[in-house]
Amino acid sequence: MKTLKFDTIVAGVGSVGAAACYHLARRGARVLGVEQFNIPHVRGSHHGHSRMIRQAYYEHPDYVPLLRRSYELWEELQSGSALSPFFHLTGGLYIGSDDGTIVAGSRLAAEQHGLEYEMLDAGEVKNRFPAFAPDCNHTGFYETKAGFLVPERAISAHAEAATNLGATLVTGETVEGWTAHQDHVEVRTSLATYQADQLVIASGAWTGEVAAELGIELKVTRQVLAWFEPLGDRARFAPENLPCWFIETEPPYGHYGFPVMPGDFGLKVALHRPGSPIELAHLSAEDHQPRQDEIDGLRTVLERYLPGCAGDLIHTCTCRYTNSPDGHFIIGKHPRHDRISIACGLSGHGFKFSSVIGEILADLALFGRSALAVEFLSPARFQ
Ligand SMILES: Cc1cc2nc3c(=O)[nH]c(=O)nc-3n(C[C@H](O)[C@H](O)[C@H](O)COP(=O)(O)OP(=O)(O)OC[C@H]3O[C@@H](n4cnc5c(N)ncnc54)[C@H](O)[C@@H]3O)c2cc1C
Repeated sequence: MKTLKFDTIVAGVGSVGAAACYHLARRGARVLGVEQFNIPHVRGSHHGHSRMIRQAYYEHPDYVPLLRRSYELWEELQSGSALSPFFHLTGGLYIGSDDGTIVAGSRLAAEQHGLEYEMLDAGEVKNRFPAFAPDCNHTGFYETKAGFLVPERAISAHAEAATNLGATLVTGETVEGWTAHQDHVEVRTSLATYQADQLVIASGAWTGEVAAELGIELKVTRQVLAWFEPLGDRARFAPENLPCWFIETEPPYGHYGFPVMPGDFGLKVALHRPGSPIELAHLSAEDHQPRQDEIDGLRTVLERYLPGCAGDLIHTCTCRYTNSPDGHFIIGKHPRHDRISIACGLSGHGFKFSSVIGEILADLALFGRSALAVEFLSPARFQ
């Protein structure tokens, strides 16, 4: 049988892979995207209806230039897409101690990059956003240019735009192995063998299998999400009254949630900290349902910090983080194979960046470099 040849193959068409397919196709490359499930699906890291996007990045100020570009790309994708809106600016309120990771870190990033923000004491938080009941020693950091993305729609928009530009996206096909030769890469899947000049690995939680030889320890963890019916008037929790929020309940980690949008399940809440580990062998299993004590923990936090908001439990699910050893992304050329580019270990905060990471991967694959400063995220830092 004849082996099909492409300029670039993308292993995994999820958050980052769909964006990479789009940016590669936009640059005129012949692209094959290979996805083991559907596009999108509920077994990886991208389901659950909302992902927060914010610019005053407490994790590290060096992410801010990437975020500026990612906002531009999301706006552009949204305006060219016939799908329902998936990029919503609602404002973002981060609450914690004045010198804690979240408030002090957000302030540092905002100061370094000239971002607009407001500091609010606990009383000012209550006056401005009456749904919240912060501790009296809490400080609020508010940024207007924050909000959320609807990940399923954003991925569909990238995939649709890629296909319109000529990319071939296949589903229900698993990348089982690859070999980098001097003049091409061979990619073996559950259905075929392909050749390409370049391979982009965007396999999320499965990167430990797809790029095992990378030798970087990626810990996949199970994260619990819950949606509660808001008590009283739903309008209290609409974006006009409730921004996206993050409260430093377990320093340096915390709970976060979203306003209620028309047609939404309800008030969504989750804990941002690596959850319980999942073995690679069990990754594709679908049974990772939340336990009652996990749901009770989420309800307790809502009752404490947004009193009177948590009515009946409407929906729950789990999702996966793929945690890098230092909590920062891993993006760059494979340290030993120039024909392979990779983005992984997005450590529970990568969706907002997926548009710009797709662009970076396309530039790395086609031109060997990105105009954006991503050296601080290079896989070489773990070698
Ligand atoms: C509960 C939760 C909340 C989050 N909240 C936020 C947030 O508020 N803001 C934010 O920015 N980020 C957030 N994140 C993180 C963000 O969603 C992830 O960082 C991002 O989705 C990871 O993208 P990815 O492309 O690496 O993985 P995925 O989107 O999972 O894509 C990887 C794809 O590769 C496919 N694949 C894997 N192996 C193979 C193979 N061998 N062959 C073919 N296909 C393969 C998978 O099926 C999958 O579709 C959250 C994550 C979770 C779980």
